[in-house]
Amino acid sequence: MSDCIFCKIAAGEIPSATIYEDEDFRVILDLGPATKGHALILPKQHFADITQMPEELTAKAFVLAKKIVTFMKGALPSDGYNIVQNNGEAAGQTVFHFHIHLIPRYTNDHAGV
Ligand code: 5GP
Ligand code: ZN
Repeated sequence: MSDCIFCKIAAGEIPSATIYEDEDFRVILDLGPATKGHALILPKQHFADITQMPEELTAKAFVLAKKIVTFMKGALPSDGYNIVQNNGEAAGQTVFHFHIHLIPRYTNDHAGV
């Protein structure tokens, strides 16, 4: 989608702090992190939310979430993780390009996740 910011970021047209990339996804650091290391998994193809995602890509996205969180455990020690995925305005979605939040948690960080 030409007016979608996450399409442009995922395609590399807008620079981002990329921590992982493959043919289907780009993983970036969130511009307004809830905690240190807050990352977002973006598919390179545009899907507004999870209901629009093909099943195989959905599965890949969540397997990748597990892998990145496992990797982050070594690279950025934290005490826990939230894996969050919002669908629809009422659920807190603000960018209508499917994404998964990976949010490292630190004991008593008081992040409003
Ligand atoms: P949502 O509320 O849709 O689940 O999450 C959108 C997330 O995208 C928010 O955490 C917000 O900080 C992040 N975000 C919005 N615009 C940009 C951007 O241009 N670059 C990056 N890296 N993150 C963004
Ligand atoms: Zn998009």
